[in-house]
Amino acid sequence: MPRRHPIRTEAIVLRQRPIGDADRICVLFSPTRGRIEAVARGVRKPLSKLAGHVEPLSRGQFGLAQGRSLHVITDAQTLDAWPSLHDDVDRMTEALAMAELVDRSTDLDVASGPLYALLKGSLDVLAATSAPRAVRRWFTLRFLDQQGYRPELDECVRCRAVLGPDGNGYAPADGGAVCPSCHQAGVGQRLSSPVFRLLRYMRRSSCEATSQVRVDANTSAELDRHLRLSMEQALDGQLRSGGFQESLERAEAIGRHAASAATEREREEQDRAVV
Ligand SMILES: [Zn+2]
Repeated sequence: MPRRHPIRTEAIVLRQRPIGDADRICVLFSPTRGRIEAVARGVRKPLSKLAGHVEPLSRGQFGLAQGRSLHVITDAQTLDAWPSLHDDVDRMTEALAMAELVDRSTDLDVASGPLYALLKGSLDVLAATSAPRAVRRWFTLRFLDQQGYRPELDECVRCRAVLGPDGNGYAPADGGAVCPSCHQAGVGQRLSSPVFRLLRYMRRSSCEATSQVRVDANTSAELDRHLRLSMEQALDGQLRSGGFQESLERAEAIGRHAASAATEREREEQDRAVV
């Protein structure tokens, strides 16, 4: 069998899980190769040189040897450790939710430059923000755009009337907002004026600008509800096995209990089952 060439790539570590006595499987996300699963050998031993460079939610340059099913990490150099993501539970929660979404919606060995840029840019802003939830909302809206599920916010998705800010509904199954007439006829959930305006603002604004907008609790809750419905709609096929909500809740739980022994054990058992 011909020897396969080693790979060098930049990547963000989405997550990792223990395997065997001393190794971990790292899920990497590369701009040129999409999702990559690679074994980091010996990283659970005390003196491992590799261990500090394969932390989840860090960005690095990786050398990989191609194995039969999994790659093997031969060397790694951290480019961004994003320590402020790891020091703050709210930032960590949102970062893990974004990483989980990328993990669950991308394929092995498929170039994903725009999504990589989106994730990296969002993690950069997240690392410096005091409004982590806003960063994830902005990321979610851009993610929907990139996946081909950009919510319509200019025209009614039912009758094509141009939308004003008041009295609209939100109908993700139809692809976005509906006008007051269609909403009164029973289409969609209530889309309040502040949320409608905020969605349009987020669409045309940078992540930094979005993260500086202060929103009240009701607006926050409604916005999250609509974005979650859109995401479930968009990822229905891709995430049918678990559902985005469940995935998000799991990421949040992981964020709160970052190195939970139970989770590690559970994932190790899953790995043992497939190895
Ligand atoms: Zn309409």
